[in-house]
Amino acid sequence: MTTIQEGGCACGDVRYRTVGDPVLATVCHCKYCQKRTGSAFSEPVMFRIEQVEFSGTARTIYEHQSDESGRWLRMEFCPRCGTTVSGTAQRRPGMRGISGGTFDNPDWVKSRKHIWTRSVQQWMLIPEDAERFEKGSPA
Ligand SMILES: [Zn+2]
Ligand SMILES: [Zn+2]
Repeated sequence: MTTIQEGGCACGDVRYRTVGDPVLATVCHCKYCQKRTGSAFSEPVMFRIEQVEFSGTARTIYEHQSDESGRWLRMEFCPRCGTTVSGTAQRRPGMRGISGGTFDNPDWVKSRKHIWTRSVQQWMLIPEDAERFEKGSPA
């Protein structure tokens, strides 16, 4: 059976549903994600574009240029409550990331690769058995 998951922003104006399993799920410890979330990491769950369907209010887009790769990242957030629900990256054409914490059931994603661990916050404990990468994920 195909997994269907739903989620959305904090105020509920932006909603989405995903169909099927993710292509990749990561925990990103890069400096940009720490800054943009105001927290320690982000947890993007990557799908093919056609696996994700949005409803409700249109998202506002902010484009960030990576100072390391020079490539763009486009973060999509609710114009009312500011929750970043999704994003796309120049590096991954045809794919869309969903912010893991915005799923109605965030626990459904089981395994995650930890990326950009070179800038991990010092108090953070990464599980022993997790795959980890100093920089971005190779796949
Ligand atoms: Zn909202
Ligand atoms: Zn990041």
